[in-house]
Amino acid sequence: MHATASRRAFAKYATLSFNTDMTLELFVCSTYYFIVQAVTATRNGAWHGRSAENSGREGEAVRTQVGIIGAGPAGLFLAHLLHRSGVDCVVLENRSREYVESRVRAGVLERTTVQLMHEIGIGDRVVREGLVHAGTTLAVNGEPFHVDFGELLDGAAVTVYGQSEVMKDLHVSADRLGIPIHYEAQNVTPHDLDGERPKITWRSQKGVHSLECDFIAGCDGFHGVSRASIPADAIKVFERTYPFGWLGILAEVPPCNHELIYANHEHGFALASMRSPTRSRYYLQCSLDDKIEDWSDEAIWQELAVRIGDSFAPKITRGPSFEKSIAPLRSFVCSPLRYGRLFLAGDAAHIVPPTGAKGLNLAAADVIVLAKALAAFYASGSTREIDGYSARALDRIWKAERFSWWLTHLTHRFPHMDGFDRQMQVAELEYLRQSRAAQSVFAENYVGLPLNA
Ligand SMILES: Cc1cc2nc3c(=O)[nH]c(=O)nc-3n(C[C@H](O)[C@H](O)[C@H](O)COP(=O)(O)OP(=O)(O)OC[C@H]3O[C@@H](n4cnc5c(N)ncnc54)[C@H](O)[C@@H]3O)c2cc1C
Repeated sequence: MHATASRRAFAKYATLSFNTDMTLELFVCSTYYFIVQAVTATRNGAWHGRSAENSGREGEAVRTQVGIIGAGPAGLFLAHLLHRSGVDCVVLENRSREYVESRVRAGVLERTTVQLMHEIGIGDRVVREGLVHAGTTLAVNGEPFHVDFGELLDGAAVTVYGQSEVMKDLHVSADRLGIPIHYEAQNVTPHDLDGERPKITWRSQKGVHSLECDFIAGCDGFHGVSRASIPADAIKVFERTYPFGWLGILAEVPPCNHELIYANHEHGFALASMRSPTRSRYYLQCSLDDKIEDWSDEAIWQELAVRIGDSFAPKITRGPSFEKSIAPLRSFVCSPLRYGRLFLAGDAAHIVPPTGAKGLNLAAADVIVLAKALAAFYASGSTREIDGYSARALDRIWKAERFSWWLTHLTHRFPHMDGFDRQMQVAELEYLRQSRAAQSVFAENYVGLPLNA
């Protein structure tokens, strides 16, 4: 029996027997529990003598099976999948819960991500409130055309549902399941990654804590501590930075179209997106030197109308923005996704420009593979799947990197572009407008490649 399952069985048994001969019953149960723990520990090379849920006292070493750094989408999806497989984990997050839930980021969910939400029991709200998009519109020089995913790919679609809503669903569910998450954990530091007994130390208001683990999952995003803890000569980094940024706004106004519009215009790229039928999300390609103060709401609405083009510009409802930011664009992959007993997943391992809406979806796909590998290890003791995690996840990651890079090049204005480059972009977009084969390739990548692709 698995250690977590045995602990749950023990808790149930201890409660049932409370009113009988408590001392004897508890003795028998405790003995049984510790024997199961010892057997499991021997098989897996780990010992789970204390429950991580009891952590909190300064200096106390707590033990778990998987220590997860970061409570973003990668960290919390992984925690849920491990919990479902009966694998113990503890999540350490350096920000507050409110901060993590309110971060405005991704908004387009692939089929695999929505399916994952259903599998871990948080699928209700995304079905109720998510907007199913069975296609998208692209525009070149103001002339739009539609790509119908549903028709090209047998009913395929993506779902528009904000990352902040995904995070709220994950947090509520983690509370219900009792998944331990330590927010505002300062100075989170992984240790002994190349040994048998890695650990993570962190500081809270109560003092310094230590979490001993079998494995550490680095789910702490691009600027996290996990990847930075790997010796430079143990990983390879592949990177492309783009010579422009995205100016994004959120406004409480209805979207100008029921689906997204990706617009390539002489002035640069624009994207009309949304978070709900009453909340619009718009982006404009901008210079990396631009400051947010340079862009008044009026200037943004004006430029959006120009770049989106005459077919949709009259449908843009203007209103005050309540969130405005400029984000740089980057393609980044580190390889392999493992160092000793540390596994990287999500933005900690890779970044895509947001053009293909792949970031959150890739994070979800990584941890599906990782959770399966870890569960297989705890079930059988075999390291075959965890040894294969990096290669398996990277295979799909590179395909999503390629698509995001390609779509960025197809739709943005690069500073070095001359007339020839511009004509190449226009020709490729016209080909996409006219060719069913080209549209099928676009649709297949946009809705998300299957996990085993
Ligand atoms: C401004 C912005 C806009 C984006 N827009 C889109 C979009 O439109 N579409 C799209 O698909 N993707 C978008 N993305 C990407 C998408 O949001 C990410 O790919 C996704 O959040 C990745 O999830 P993650 O869990 O891997 O990383 P994160 O979401 O970054 O989560 C990592 C977590 O780890 C925590 N952490 C960091 N360091 C530490 C530490 N030292 N100790 C403990 N915890 C730590 C962080 O606080 C965070 O909660 C955007 C990203 C940004 C930054």
